Amino acid sequence: MLERNPYSQPLQPAGRTTLDTVKRNRRNRNRFLILIILALTAFLLWRSIWQFERSEPGNDIVPAPPVAELHPVVLAKQKELLAETAKIGISVLITDGFRSSEEQDSLYAQGRTADGAVVTQVQGGNSYHNYGLAIDFALRTKEGEVVWDMKYDGNRNGEADWMEVVAAAKRLGFSWGGDWDNFPDYPHLQMDFGYTIRQLKRGLRPPVE
Ligand SMILES: [Zn+2]
Repeated sequence: MLERNPYSQPLQPAGRTTLDTVKRNRRNRNRFLILIILALTAFLLWRSIWQFERSEPGNDIVPAPPVAELHPVVLAKQKELLAETAKIGISVLITDGFRSSEEQDSLYAQGRTADGAVVTQVQGGNSYHNYGLAIDFALRTKEGEVVWDMKYDGNRNGEADWMEVVAAAKRLGFSWGGDWDNFPDYPHLQMDFGYTIRQLKRGLRPPVE
């Protein structure tokens, strides 16, 4: 058998081969560029969606460490409430303020798995008390007795003291649990600063000056 002579076959014209290679290279480069552009577009799209989600009202606040006390604004308003109601002859007792998630859970157990009456409808992490944004109040009579009597008129002005406290609290910016349709909570006053429980659970907090 004859050795195959590499020169016996007509060579492809050198120019043609180079042109093919250039074309193939260009095609590969274009494919690569399209991939890069697609990836970049996807990234930018994802980023803008992410930023849009973060721009929900109240989401511009940096997540804060766990809350362990009443929000300073709520505390200041609570003091104002005590002062204002004292002026009209009503002694208000704050029975509860900040409540930890664990305390909330044991309160939730009350009347369910534990003795006592049901006092709350929400479990730990689901109450504004757990974020230092709610207080509960009661009235103290002239005799020093603590009452939850919504008709009690200790200052004898013909109006129920309880509703006078609620009116003063609302003027100070509190919302009242007694206005809730499902499970009215008459001793409950809160300031949510526009934050939903969902946002608070996600670690967002109203700003503290
Ligand atoms: Zn409450």
